[in-house]
Amino acid sequence: MDDSETSPLINRRPHSVINQSSEEDEDDSENKLNYTTEKVLSGEYESLDYDNCENELYEMEEKKKSVRDIVVIEMLRWLVMLFVGVLTGLVASLIDYCVIKSTDLKFSIIKKYIDKCVDDQCMEIPLFVWAGINGGLVFVAAVLTACFEPVAAGSGIPQIKCYLNGVKVPHVVRLKTIVVKVIGVISSVAGGLIIGKEGPMIHSGAVIAAGISQGRSDTFRKFDLRIFEFFRADTEKRDFVAGGAAAGVSAAFGAPVGGVLFSLEEGASFWNQALAWRIFFASMMSTFTLNVIQSYIKGHPWDLSYPGLFNFGNFDTTSYSAFEIPIFILMGVLGGLFGALFNQFNYILTKFRRRYINKGRDRVLEAMVVAIITATVGFVSLYFNNNCTPMIHDQDPNTVQFYCNDGQYSSTASILFQSPEDSVKSLFHDPKGTYAPATLIVYCLCVFLLACWTYGLYVPSGLFIPGLLIGATWGRLVGISLNYIFPDAEWVDFGKYSLIGAAAQLGGIVRMTISLTVIIMEATGNITFGLPIMIVLIVAKWVGDIFNEGIYDMHIHIQGVPILGWEPSSVLTNLSAREVMSHPVSVFRMRESVGRIMEVLQNEMHNGFPVVENFDPDIQSSSEEEEMSFGTYRGIILRSQLLVLLKQRIYGDNLTAKLTTKDFRDAYPKFTPVRQIHISQYEREHFEINLEPYMNPAAYCITDNSLYPRIFKLFRALGLRHLVVVDKHHQVVGMVTRKDLARYKVTQKLWKVSMEELLISTK
Ligand code: ATP
Repeated sequence: MDDSETSPLINRRPHSVINQSSEEDEDDSENKLNYTTEKVLSGEYESLDYDNCENELYEMEEKKKSVRDIVVIEMLRWLVMLFVGVLTGLVASLIDYCVIKSTDLKFSIIKKYIDKCVDDQCMEIPLFVWAGINGGLVFVAAVLTACFEPVAAGSGIPQIKCYLNGVKVPHVVRLKTIVVKVIGVISSVAGGLIIGKEGPMIHSGAVIAAGISQGRSDTFRKFDLRIFEFFRADTEKRDFVAGGAAAGVSAAFGAPVGGVLFSLEEGASFWNQALAWRIFFASMMSTFTLNVIQSYIKGHPWDLSYPGLFNFGNFDTTSYSAFEIPIFILMGVLGGLFGALFNQFNYILTKFRRRYINKGRDRVLEAMVVAIITATVGFVSLYFNNNCTPMIHDQDPNTVQFYCNDGQYSSTASILFQSPEDSVKSLFHDPKGTYAPATLIVYCLCVFLLACWTYGLYVPSGLFIPGLLIGATWGRLVGISLNYIFPDAEWVDFGKYSLIGAAAQLGGIVRMTISLTVIIMEATGNITFGLPIMIVLIVAKWVGDIFNEGIYDMHIHIQGVPILGWEPSSVLTNLSAREVMSHPVSVFRMRESVGRIMEVLQNEMHNGFPVVENFDPDIQSSSEEEEMSFGTYRGIILRSQLLVLLKQRIYGDNLTAKLTTKDFRDAYPKFTPVRQIHISQYEREHFEINLEPYMNPAAYCITDNSLYPRIFKLFRALGLRHLVVVDKHHQVVGMVTRKDLARYKVTQKLWKVSMEELLISTK
């Protein structure tokens, strides 16, 4: 352990908070933020409330509910999941159809120029056409993303992971986001970037789920499906988003079980059987819908054999023997090493981007440069590494003869003249001898570097396919090498090694284990390779974790998102609530003056406040004493609830008028900010609000001597947002939120464990 771990933890209260933005120097602060955030948890990210507010209104509503109401709500949950599955399948089909059509059109144009120019010696023309088309398509994706909805960039998996973990990522489940995502992914995939459309499907499924379950949209304010009104709460919405993400995985890979496991692995705090069942239903409906549509598109209506956007093709005749397992383990090690290298390059690049490429114009320019370079690299490697193979694919419209003799085609051209997904399949299934080792080495290197550069560009893009493609290439090279060593061995099957390489590389980059094993198994269509895939994924994760973290976690941490891992770190076990909590605490009394509520909401950005008795703010605020307490704990009230109470003026003549839970649901999720609520000086000074019916009297609290692991588990398992710390007399002494837990950053590299305390930025 290094010094930082053994040094005493400093109990700095109030927390070390840095102010990252002020209205006057917005531009400057953006730059500052770009390179300081790694040591800072961003205050921009708020938490979701996964804990029901069981106040008097809630109790009244629950008591009024008949059995029929309960059944109807449960049926509506299933109905929403049905819509989510079907719509996700439809969106996946749309994306797939558009990508195939535009890619075919693009390559037919380029092929025409190549065929013409091979004889006329004018090869620069197809190069310009290729680069021009790619640049143009990527321009569309980048402008939409960088200028209209930056959160649509990338796969969206890190953002969805955060959301399922309980962090509200601004704009992540908006209608505008999905529009940009869908158009963007079509343009960027057709634009020839080394990306896949599968990752973005997960994000799209999540947005669809969030949108449908709320039955209304900010964009179309008149549209309001009141039957879904009951679902307008973070708890319900997050469950549906889990279903949407699973439906996305399911449509992407034809992997309904993998989808469910993805949602559970990445998000669910505990195994909720009823929810898992509904998520599974959404996943099934999504793959079924996609299957039906694809069967029509492919001209075989109701021949339901197209369960996902991408499958690995048929491995039914391939098997493995136990003596190959050590080879698979070695491939897992390679996957871990290459994955860590990929992540390290991408990390350096991301930091560079955050510092220097942070304006819309620069982001668009960078995306176009990458598109043009990708096309140029493809073309140049085709020109200098023309690998001729006897014609066996003459039915394939993208087969290019290039400089090969008659009866032969260029296999280099054939992997370049198709989408990255088809290239993965070619590497899995093309017969021995199709690709020369030199072709594969050059291709692997180019794809590795380009994919690394591409991930993080301001275009919607998925990383699964590039990961698989890199691994499938070096996996095939492993197969070729084994064939060289054991020329007569029948067990050396190139496709098998290509598949294991693909799994190892992807595992080394993303470090997912349970869900990825099942996704790959479902995409291969048989369980023969279940064990080898699991082994390589585990080994790749172990090896990769020695050097750095998985790429999604890396991007989450670079952005300062307060995400909580599965388990509390073992080096934090001796930390007590007193060291973790914030102190002093902003609290409200059961009957609080309108003026004080306004003042606190205006001056502080906290989202939750303990409600107490026996407390006098005037006396407390003048006291400098460290050990002071803040009254007897009675419950918690949220900022959002106070905003509704103030807006509805629940004081004076209205003091006894009670709002209902519906009033709060109607205001969800965009509550009027305090600066837009105008309250006169007279009202501030003469009225008070009775908080008792609205506060959550059953909110969780802990005693000040509780240890970090207990606090962490409470937060993680129950999806908490606030945890009040009380002393043995039930007096409030502190407040803990997810940022207080997430700010202890523990890094483990080999035997060296280090811990640092991050700062928390203001919002
Ligand atoms: P969230 O942002 O997770 O929705 P929040 O806005 O209420 O919740 P944070 O932004 O996580 O709170 O809190 C930032 C810091 O302020 C944390 O250190 C937390 O302990 C502290 N804090 C939160 N609420 C209070 C409060 N009522 N009084 C004093 N400190 C608080």
